[in-house]
Amino acid sequence: MRLILLGPPGAGKGTQAQRIVEKYGIPQLSTGDMLRAAVAAKTEVGLKAEALMRDGKLVPDSVVNAIISERLDADDCKGGFILDGFPRTLIQADATEAMMKEKGIDLSAVISIEVDDKILADRVSGRYTCANCGAGYHDVNLKPKVEGVCDRCGSTHFKRRPDDTRETVVTRLSAYYRETSPLIGYYYAKGKLKTVDGMADIDKVSAEVDRILAGL
Ligand code: ADP
Ligand code: ADP
Ligand code: ZN
Repeated sequence: MRLILLGPPGAGKGTQAQRIVEKYGIPQLSTGDMLRAAVAAKTEVGLKAEALMRDGKLVPDSVVNAIISERLDADDCKGGFILDGFPRTLIQADATEAMMKEKGIDLSAVISIEVDDKILADRVSGRYTCANCGAGYHDVNLKPKVEGVCDRCGSTHFKRRPDDTRETVVTRLSAYYRETSPLIGYYYAKGKLKTVDGMADIDKVSAEVDRILAGL
């Protein structure tokens, strides 16, 4: 299964990707996570990306295309993968198609998670993750079962992203509408687009995603 998850910041891409990973054992390839790792490691890519990410602007296509092309060659992608947050521009979408053609693999589906703009600031500003295992949480919508303790790994350390502020959501949403939303039409025209109602609670969204995956 080779999937793309599409949706504005805070739609629930990462949350659903983590659940697909657990169920289907295919890796989640998040360009956001990879870029944050590059920033933390102060690599050349990280230094280029840091200020753009903090301001909610997109990192250049050539940078993310190269990261994904290399990542797709790893052994753990042989049985499939979930692209989370990539492609995000038409140039990236064309590059994805070219990469997959060259590697001799097909895209199974693109799942677009649809949500109202007005809830995105709440989703993004309440988001935090386990600093140890990366499990995702939310201040209101998804708290750990025991307060302050990660459900998955038991860690008591959590972190928030520097770009998850109400102010950056505005810039990020503009980038989404300008650069990413055209991909909905792009994949619809290719017969790959599936949509889910991202306003439903997390389990309901997962059930919808499961139904789509079962039909592939
Ligand atoms: P994305 O990867 O699309 O930016 P996330 O999966 O990180 O979004 O979700 C953003 C925040 O919203 C997280 O804190 C997550 O726990 C929460 N969340 C995700 N899906 C839902 C949902 N269907 N209903 C309510 N909250 C959700
Ligand atoms: P979200 O989950 O809120 O949609 P991500 O973690 O996917 O956010 O991305 C965080 C930031 O990393 C983006 O605002 C952007 O600066 C950069 N980024 C991630 N993926 C891409 C991409 N495919 N193209 C360009 N920039 C990207
Ligand atoms: Zn954890």
